[in-house]
Amino acid sequence: MATRIEFNKHGGPEVLQAAEFTPTEPAENEIQVENKAIGINYIDTYIRSGLYPPPSLPSGLGTEAAGVVSKVGSGVTDIKPGDRVVYAQSALGAYSSVHNVPADKAAILPDAISFEQAAASFLKGLTVFYLLRKTYEIKPEEIFLFHAAAGGVGLIACQWAKALGAKLIGTVGSAEKAQRAKQAGAWQVINYREENLVERVKELTGGKKVRVVYDSVGKDTWEASLDCLQRHGLMVSFGNSSGPVTGVNLGILNQKGSLFATRPSLQGYITNREELTEASNELFSLIASGVIKVDVTDAQKFALKEAQKAHETLESRATQGSSLLIP
Ligand code: NDP
Repeated sequence: MATRIEFNKHGGPEVLQAAEFTPTEPAENEIQVENKAIGINYIDTYIRSGLYPPPSLPSGLGTEAAGVVSKVGSGVTDIKPGDRVVYAQSALGAYSSVHNVPADKAAILPDAISFEQAAASFLKGLTVFYLLRKTYEIKPEEIFLFHAAAGGVGLIACQWAKALGAKLIGTVGSAEKAQRAKQAGAWQVINYREENLVERVKELTGGKKVRVVYDSVGKDTWEASLDCLQRHGLMVSFGNSSGPVTGVNLGILNQKGSLFATRPSLQGYITNREELTEASNELFSLIASGVIKVDVTDAQKFALKEAQKAHETLESRATQGSSLLIP
């Protein structure tokens, strides 16, 4: 028997329940992974709440974990039982002690990277890869704005920007988070609960504002983010932590300087084995060489059965960096 987290109706963290189940054999082109560390991502809360409804209820949750391959299905040639792997973008159900995953969603884990480091950084690191390298290519010395800079995605973005020689202005919701983002390599930090975001961005850029804004906060920051952009600048809206951006009149892009806007997702950028290999090789080499650090504090490691508490903590804005479930 194995244990997994399920929910049979949408709602707050309280709908998440632990259940025992018998794992099925991996299907063709699937691997079975004994999870050692499971990544918690903000998207998991959208699926639980119903903002992004799952295909059916009851449903499992989670799409990212690291562990040891226990079985492989027919057709799998590049991964074998005993291999250490990390995966993201699996079918829902990674909040589990065992999960069957398409082999092309997994990468063999270098020895230098622990299961916890991998589960804390894979989905989030692949996201930072496509945001800073593909959606818009950040150049050395470039000044840009990245919201929620002390979050899971945010702390990786701070470190990656520094490695690129770029100047990330990060927004954060507390003084402690400001310090953490700075330590991670943010060039400047704005506490958007206390400071005027647009005025500070103007000050920090000598009035020029920025060419690109990465906004995962959504509803609460959408309009101010547009005001931080230069003429013809690019708004990258990639998340809904404060709620989704809805009802946008496209004319606002004209009014604020003939701006561009995009709403990208990981599944739109990492779509096949080649794209996964390119992104994961770059991410793994930055982690293995210590350029990107993804240590998770004990306070943000939760037992699998504590998934409710993990979601409460994430949604209360109390976390810094990544959080994990440990089976
Ligand atoms: P985080 O660790 O960044 O947690 C969310 C953070 O958002 C909070 O800590 C908080 O930081 C900030 N925030 C601002 N307003 C609110 C609010 N009203 N309620 C809750 N949090 C708020 O989460 P992740 O690293 O897992 O994900 C970051 C974002 O990136 C999410 O929006 C997620 O959906 C998005 N994402 C998008 C992907 C894509 O491909 N499109 C892929 C991966 C993630 P603070 O207190 O400092 O404001």
